[in-house]
Amino acid sequence: MNEQQYINALFEGFRLSNGDVEMLVSGLASSLFQESKQVRDLQQKIEEMDQVVSDSRGSVYVKCRSCQEYYDLPCDLSEFNRDYSYCGKNEFCCP
Ligand SMILES: [Zn+2]
Repeated sequence: MNEQQYINALFEGFRLSNGDVEMLVSGLASSLFQESKQVRDLQQKIEEMDQVVSDSRGSVYVKCRSCQEYYDLPCDLSEFNRDYSYCGKNEFCCP
């Protein structure tokens, strides 16, 4: 659906609701919330991806939240959670 089709559908819904402005605003607010949530989720995913690097041999490294150094990924990439990413090299680098 392109932008004009979205606008047309929105106004068609407005006409079908017999000019119920509250319903129109509620629908727009809901759409805006969903879109902004999707953007935030994507930004978080990009930030997580920035925490992961790999070398030419296929080894994967992740960034420690504390010292910001990269260390070997201790689990499958699908299990990686940057909130618990610590290298464990010293007392400050433990969860
Ligand atoms: Zn560390």
